[in-house]
Amino acid sequence: MTKVMEIRNVETFYGAIMALRGVSLEVNEGEIVTILGANGAGKTTLMKTISGLMDPEKGQIEFNGERIDGKQPDQIVRMGLAHVPEGREVFPYLTIEENLKMGAYCRSGNIRDDIDLVYEYFPILKERRSQSAGFLSGGQQQMLAIGRGLMARPKLMLLDEPSLGLSPLLTQEIFAIIKRLNAEQKVTMLLVEQNANVALHTAHTGYVLEMGRIVMAGSCEELRKSDDIQEFYLGRQ
Ligand code: ATP
Repeated sequence: MTKVMEIRNVETFYGAIMALRGVSLEVNEGEIVTILGANGAGKTTLMKTISGLMDPEKGQIEFNGERIDGKQPDQIVRMGLAHVPEGREVFPYLTIEENLKMGAYCRSGNIRDDIDLVYEYFPILKERRSQSAGFLSGGQQQMLAIGRGLMARPKLMLLDEPSLGLSPLLTQEIFAIIKRLNAEQKVTMLLVEQNANVALHTAHTGYVLEMGRIVMAGSCEELRKSDDIQEFYLGRQ
C-alpha cells in the first residue's frame, strides 16, 4: 500500500499548553482513517497542525513523500490536501456557487466540471446555488463545506467532525456520501469524529487520541470489538 501521509512524533502547543504529545500515524492511499477521541483530546489541533494552520514544535509530517510541516496552508492545499474544518466555516454572505469557487482559488483550469461534480453528489446545492450560504441548514452547510474542499481536487481530505450538530438521519446521509467520494473519486480521507459508532462503520482504520497521545490503533473491525472502545466510545456495558 502506498503511504499518502506519515506523521512522526508531532508536538503542538498553545503557549505553554502541550496539546499534542508525540503523535505518530499513517494514512494509506485510498483509505478512510478515523481519529476518535473525547472533547479536548487534541483532534482539532492535529487537523490544524497537518493543514499548516498551526506549526508543530517538534516532529515531522510527510505528505506524498514531501515534508509539509512548516509550510503555509495555501502551499499545502496546492499539494492536494484539503481541510474541511469543524463548524463548516462557509462564507455566509457568498452564494453557494461562489463558496465552491473559493475552494478552487489556488488552482487553475476548468472548474465548471468540478462544480458539476459537486452538484452530482449534493443536488440540493445545485437547487440553491444562487442563495447565500448563510441561509442553508447545518446539514446543507456541511455538504457545502465538503463540496468546497473537493474543488481543490484533493488527494487527501481532512474532515473535522462532519456530524457535529446534525440529526442521526443527516449524519447517515453525509457519511454515505463520504464513503462514495472515497470509493468513486478516490479521495483518501482522514476523519475526526466524536460519533464513534458512525466513524467505526465508515472508516477502514482508526486511531484513538487521548490527552494528546495516540493510545490505540487498528482496523476499525478490531477497534469495534475492543472492550475499551465498547465501554468508553460505543457506550456498551
Ligand atoms: P473538541 O472535540 O472539543 O473540538 P478536540 O479533541 O478537537 O476537542 P482540541 O480542540 O484540539 O481538542 O484541544 C486540545 C487541547 O488544547 C485541549 O486541552 C484544549 O483545551 C486546548 N486548546 C484548544 N484550543 C486552544 C486555544 N486556542 N488556546 C489554548 N488552549 C487550547
